[in-house]
Amino acid sequence: MSRVRRLRSRYLWVLLGCSLGLPAPAQVQATISSPRSAQAEALAAQLDQLVRHDQGQANHQPGTLGSLKTLQAWRQAAATDGVLDERARADFDLAEARLLLARGDSEAALRLAERLAAQPGHQALSLLLRAEQAARQGRLQAAADWASQAWLILEANCPEEGLKAVIQQGHCDYRSSWSALRLLARQRAAEGAHSLAEVHLRRSLDLAQAGIDSERSALSMASLAQVHQSLSQTEQSRRWLTLALQTAQGDAQTLGQIKVIEATMAARNSDLRAQRQALDEGLQIARATGNRLLLAQMHIGLIDFYMQQKQPLRALQAAGPALDWLAHQPDARIERALRNNLAVARIQLHQFERARQELARLRELNQGHTELVEQSVELREQGEAWAAAGQTREAILAYHAERKLNDQLTARHRESSLQQLKLKYDSERKQRDLALLVSKQALVDRQLSNRQLASQVGYAVAALLGLSLLLAAVMVRRVHLANKRLKANEVLLRAQSERDPLTDLANRRHFLAVMNQQAQPAFNGALLMVDIDHFKHVNDEHGHGIGDVVICEVARRLSHAVRQNDLVVRWGGEEFLVFAADVSAEQLCALAERILHSVAGTPVQTTDGPLRITVSLGFARFPLPPSQLLLHWEQAVNWADMALYSAKSRGRNRAMGIETVHAPNAEALAAIAADFDAACSSERVSLKQILGPSSA
Ligand code: GH3
Ligand code: MG
Ligand code: MG
Repeated sequence: MSRVRRLRSRYLWVLLGCSLGLPAPAQVQATISSPRSAQAEALAAQLDQLVRHDQGQANHQPGTLGSLKTLQAWRQAAATDGVLDERARADFDLAEARLLLARGDSEAALRLAERLAAQPGHQALSLLLRAEQAARQGRLQAAADWASQAWLILEANCPEEGLKAVIQQGHCDYRSSWSALRLLARQRAAEGAHSLAEVHLRRSLDLAQAGIDSERSALSMASLAQVHQSLSQTEQSRRWLTLALQTAQGDAQTLGQIKVIEATMAARNSDLRAQRQALDEGLQIARATGNRLLLAQMHIGLIDFYMQQKQPLRALQAAGPALDWLAHQPDARIERALRNNLAVARIQLHQFERARQELARLRELNQGHTELVEQSVELREQGEAWAAAGQTREAILAYHAERKLNDQLTARHRESSLQQLKLKYDSERKQRDLALLVSKQALVDRQLSNRQLASQVGYAVAALLGLSLLLAAVMVRRVHLANKRLKANEVLLRAQSERDPLTDLANRRHFLAVMNQQAQPAFNGALLMVDIDHFKHVNDEHGHGIGDVVICEVARRLSHAVRQNDLVVRWGGEEFLVFAADVSAEQLCALAERILHSVAGTPVQTTDGPLRITVSLGFARFPLPPSQLLLHWEQAVNWADMALYSAKSRGRNRAMGIETVHAPNAEALAAIAADFDAACSSERVSLKQILGPSSA
């Protein structure tokens, strides 16, 4: 079983900057808090450290107050010294609420948030607290919503230009801004919008650097390393990680947090040696500093490591300290990472009932969560484990769910790249608007002096009038020509819009147009749904550029394998649909076999060397024999897709063709479609399997 892809970002995010946001409160006014004095700034830094060192301590059981007591003592001392002004009081409230959150006392923390919200100038802190509270409960979307409102207010005081000065003058609250941005980045990354996550993280790094805060700088750098890894930008990812480690030198707690990230990234690269090393170093730090949270996180990493080593028993043994931590420090995100690993380990040990219990708990924890990237990785791991344990039904279910998630993720990724472009464009536009303003002013000046001239040049107007008539005639002719060109372009554009720019194959829109042109409403002919196997590995290991090369080459091979009148469509990312209008059952099987062999027969040549690529296919002829019930083309595509699922779950590199479907009427057919796998085992559906070439 391949466990190449794994992403354990969830438990690191918990460590990092734990702050976030949620559903919108009634009205947010962008009131700006008063600046901090140098003395208040020193106090804020001290409180910041108190909260930070409180993390990972195991004294959070009810009744043990520790850092809370210290905080109260400081508050009293500040009051006695007369330095407890309104701004300092807000800083105390924020720190206290964070300590309460760490102890699971959301109610008391939210009361403090309300108190802050009631004071003009501290709404941003209140929003940030709500965000952090939501994040702790694993409600990332809500956390990001609150965080983005907090940032909206804070940003007004932290302009990109002259940032250092406004921080020193106490205007820009860089720590809170940093926390808000990290929560935003965390949510964007979790939903697969890596480009947007990068924008937020870069801004958070600017803030940390301008605040001369090496701890926060190092954490931003490490997160940037992760984002670049997700974008397959290996070189940049490595550079950020090295910088992060350098920046955190001498600060054991931050270094520990970065070790969690390092271990995660190594696991994702399937670099077992580096993963083990980062885990060992992290464990050492956790023990030396007595940081129980770090210890728990490192043990989750160890579970992951043992599972990659195919040692599920040792993985289960490593779970102890993590479960221990969760027992008195409930944390939805850490628990999710753990439950998934435990479920997979149990499946590997054939303890299916216990695995189902873990999965039921995981589903509960996942309810309403938007961390699609993580959920997709979890489903992939579970699916592979079920398949390896011979539990086909459960493997198929996991596969269905994962595919649904991946479709959403691909769409988000595209969207986020577009938004990043738009952000860049917007800031360039601001510059242009400014330049425009300046030149407008110059124009007004010139108009004034022109008015003085106007009286002297009245006679020239008449001459100009004559000239403009001539100009008008020229323009009319130009418009006419332009219209003609426009029409020609329209035809060209329409043709282009039905082609896929990467592979030059027809796209979905073209297929739709062909279907709409068909005389009968029922679909007639054969469909083959083709999907590249384990394509994500190609992207992960060789980058999207090589991924694109592979998609193009598969497209080329498909076009060669089909018959002259067959239509090959790029259906989605690495999915293709072949439409063969007029084909016998024997010809269809031969076509499927040709496709399998033409793709997998010889390796695809890339700049990273030759890659062996295989595909899986689902195919069928319509109307479906023997009852020949009529289907709309969309239903036909769905049947081909279901056959493709079967090919995937049976091990890939094969084609599954639907030979017969025993359904007397449309209802029976719909019932079969609703539980295709059961129908296949009960012989209401008979499938034909064609294997692709073996790798030998
Ligand atoms: P499976 O065998 O189950 O199909 O595994 P898979 O890894 O191929 O999984 P899936 O089909 O779900 O993944 C498709 C991946 O293809 C996800 C997406 O990032 C990637 N992808 C989609 N469109 C493009 C593209 O245009 N170029 C590149 N390089 N990758 C793409
Ligand atoms: Mg695929
Ligand atoms: Mg796919």
